[in-house]
Amino acid sequence: MDQAFFWCYPWDLEDEGIEASLARMAGEIGVTAVSVAATCRDIDQLRARRIGERRTVRFEAAAHFQPDRPRYPKRGITPATASWVKSRNPLAKIAKEAERQGIKLRAWAVCCHSSTMVARYPMASCVDIFGDPIGTWLCPGNPDVREYLAALVEDLTTNYPLDAIELEAADFGHGTGELSARECGVRLGPVARKLLSWCFCSSCRQRASIASVDVEAVLASAKTHIEAAFRLEPAPHETFDALLAVDAGLRAYFELRCETVKTLVRDIRPPSGVRLLLHVEPDIYISGADVADLREHCDGFVKSASDYGTPQWQGHLDNIVDQAGSATAVDVGLPCYPALMPSSDALVAAAHQASQSGHRAIGFHHYGLAPEPCLEWVRQAVRYARREPVQSS
Ligand SMILES: [Zn+2]
Repeated sequence: MDQAFFWCYPWDLEDEGIEASLARMAGEIGVTAVSVAATCRDIDQLRARRIGERRTVRFEAAAHFQPDRPRYPKRGITPATASWVKSRNPLAKIAKEAERQGIKLRAWAVCCHSSTMVARYPMASCVDIFGDPIGTWLCPGNPDVREYLAALVEDLTTNYPLDAIELEAADFGHGTGELSARECGVRLGPVARKLLSWCFCSSCRQRASIASVDVEAVLASAKTHIEAAFRLEPAPHETFDALLAVDAGLRAYFELRCETVKTLVRDIRPPSGVRLLLHVEPDIYISGADVADLREHCDGFVKSASDYGTPQWQGHLDNIVDQAGSATAVDVGLPCYPALMPSSDALVAAAHQASQSGHRAIGFHHYGLAPEPCLEWVRQAVRYARREPVQSS
């Protein structure tokens, strides 16, 4: 393991004091880097330890740094800056202090997942199979979204001394994880749920048409499966793979979604040489993020802890490592507090295992949310993971 880092929200560092919080993380806890949120989805957090005056932190999805406005397209999509940032730039202060303390800085940007941006730019929203906008997700196939994300990456990687930029939701991931819990009278099976997450906005339809994919046939086929699920009929195919094996149109549309994500990442990769890391969720049929295809266009991947503790977590991680080509190309995120992480011993064991498996970096979720005793858990985990050399297999 070369790097142990904490994911941090900039308001937590500001409220605790940027100098004091970085000194605590680097000096006392022993992490060698921080990954600071630059753009976030909606936030509603209750702090388990006292940081400044407030215990509840609530923000709509926003940018939590000062965007370099001239870099963004004049008539296109520009970041929605959180009101607390005002005319200040907390990220610049954090970068300066991190440099002074010898701690590396990563920026963490949530790309397409933003209810605020969809409300501001409704034409850029993903659109579901029924023609209704998906209110939380910008479409990664939309040219304005792609231009905005390219500018965002350029802004962050040019203006801040980053070790790496992490992109989360730089894909079609609507429907992954907790987002699948859209209220519906039917508990949809995996096939219908994946199809319901697919985007059919005008940009996606245009891409299909350019690629000679018959989008009307794709829509008709997808609707047939979803309407059957709504009538509580058993799905004719148990897995999505089985469905794609017999439906060439759906397969072509799926491949086009992967191509859309791949070319987005290729096009927004920073020329500055800052490492570009992609957060990947397990379901390629929902996200369109094909790790094996993406690896030549980025510098690595991040497996977050969003599904940590589930029986599938290790399988998901193994699959990403397999597709990425090696464990060194995959940074592992671990939760550092209950319920996802039950104890200090469990965290030490998880960090030890990740380090021994050859992962280059281990990240801990999240500094500001961690209860006081859990900071000691992280200190222990970092100490043990660092102390032991990786055993060659
Ligand atoms: Zn779309």
